[in-house]
Amino acid sequence: MMDKAWVYLPRASSEYQQGAKNFIDTAIKNLKKRKEKENLNEPIEISCPCIDCRNTADLHPGSIVYEHLVRRGMDLLTLLGFFMEKTLALLHKYIKVLKCLIHIRCM
Ligand SMILES: [Zn+2]
Repeated sequence: MMDKAWVYLPRASSEYQQGAKNFIDTAIKNLKKRKEKENLNEPIEISCPCIDCRNTADLHPGSIVYEHLVRRGMDLLTLLGFFMEKTLALLHKYIKVLKCLIHIRCM
């Protein structure tokens, strides 16, 4: 799970910039893993979660995404999406456990 606490820090701070770098490195690493599985040899470009691109515009190389995140900042709705994803994943886990418990009680 990725820690997103850095997005609340001032963009000029080294903590924010390190957080942005880690975020991009992880995204590129995950993409590389997926691409290796698919045997594709395309250049590694990722979607940008900055306030202008909002993960919907064209893909960019990591250096451009870093520049956007430091100059423009992370889009709050995109950020909300990350948290929703985490929450939904947790919810699915709980529902699975609940279903198991109900199943055991019925047996
Ligand atoms: Zn961007």
